Amino acid sequence: MIVMPKSFQDILDRLKGETMSDFHDLFIPNSPITEDVILRRYPDRVETNVHHLVTHHSPTGYEWGYEGSGSADLALNILEAILRAMRHDGPLTECYKGSCFRLAWQLHQDFKHEFIDKVPHEGGVIHYPAIVAWITDHAPDVLHKHCAKCGNMIEPDEGHLSEYYNGPICDGCYDLEK
Ligand SMILES: [Zn+2]
Repeated sequence: MIVMPKSFQDILDRLKGETMSDFHDLFIPNSPITEDVILRRYPDRVETNVHHLVTHHSPTGYEWGYEGSGSADLALNILEAILRAMRHDGPLTECYKGSCFRLAWQLHQDFKHEFIDKVPHEGGVIHYPAIVAWITDHAPDVLHKHCAKCGNMIEPDEGHLSEYYNGPICDGCYDLEK
């Protein structure tokens, strides 16, 4: 067995991962989506900082600037990632591959139409605060959370950290825990 230096092995693993991926787009590392969505097109490839969290319309990857399936999956994954960043905890919907928040599913065609279809062919940046504003505009309840213990709705600025539950809990449940 040939032992390779770790960094070299990392490079091989990465190359293997990329060639095995079914997606034609590449991922831009170290650029969190919460610092804006980045879409770039080069002569031979497209790059985004949007993880493929769920696949439904386009098994071959993302696109933008036209009405297509790659644009729909890009819209769906942007909404899913940002709802996660917003700590949304709503119900899920099963997709072709993976699942996403039902809210991401419900909003993604409108979001695609208003944002993704309008990005120039060569690419562009979609500002994170604009997306958050659009989501809260279209789903005013999104910032409300549910108590991780009893399921009751709690206001965005309320909620307590629990020793026993993985998520905020309401005033009533917090009092019982003390
Ligand atoms: Zn509760």
